[in-house]
Amino acid sequence: AAADPMLSVGNIEVVYGRVALVLKGVSLTVPKGGIVALLGANGAGKTTTLKAISNLLRNDRGEVTKGTITFGGERIDAASPSDLVQRGCIQVMEGRHCFGHLTIAENLLAGAFTRRDGRAAVAADLERVYAYFPRLRERRNAQAGYASGGEQQMCAIGRAMMSKPKMILLDEPSMGLAPQIVEEIFEIVKTLNEREGVSFLVAEQNTNVALRYATYGYVLETGRVVMDGEAEALRQNEDVKEFYLGLA
Ligand code: ATP
Repeated sequence: AAADPMLSVGNIEVVYGRVALVLKGVSLTVPKGGIVALLGANGAGKTTTLKAISNLLRNDRGEVTKGTITFGGERIDAASPSDLVQRGCIQVMEGRHCFGHLTIAENLLAGAFTRRDGRAAVAADLERVYAYFPRLRERRNAQAGYASGGEQQMCAIGRAMMSKPKMILLDEPSMGLAPQIVEEIFEIVKTLNEREGVSFLVAEQNTNVALRYATYGYVLETGRVVMDGEAEALRQNEDVKEFYLGLA
């Protein structure tokens, strides 16, 4: 584990509806400036892990019953989702979740709602997001609900960038997108990581692409980390595909 991690999850357990133990002691670390992949088959517990970090389990009647979560060295177990955004930890949910009736530009501006640094700073950051996502600039006045899947994913990531995050939790960004668009999305993740210093924890079923862009990976199986290591080593490891991801 890194000496001074961005995010540290220590042995957390999550229960849904007071009975179903879904995470059975998950530990993971995201170093500052890292891109970490959280891998696993459908139902392994990836989304649950991200929601536990973001304190978003309550709507699903879920609860962290054990373990610790720290962000930037501070405990965040009890931090509200808006407090987490203020601290610089933001989740981009599975399925992208743009506001369909708003334009792309309005969606991006909505991401700045917790900021207190004034209109000029927000306007400058909107320009920055457009520079990273030229497609969003072109489509800024289009209603998000009519944008393509790739544009909506870009919009969701761009909106997260508008909150000036230190870390983005990205849930299944490849879902439903063509391979070329998936590549485009991950290239942007890499660029935001390198140029803006944003750390990423990316939950993915698409092991191949995730491990090409990540520095480190964790493999989840039925609520436990069954393997972890440098991305390149995991990529070479046939067991990862065969046993844990059901892709053999
Ligand atoms: P996916 O790729 O489908 O999102 P995942 O790895 O993210 O899969 P989770 O969504 O975290 O997996 O689900 C982990 C386990 O928790 C699954 O067995 C799932 O059925 C269960 N689960 C998820 N949400 C709830 C809920 N609200 N109530 C009860 N069980 C749930």
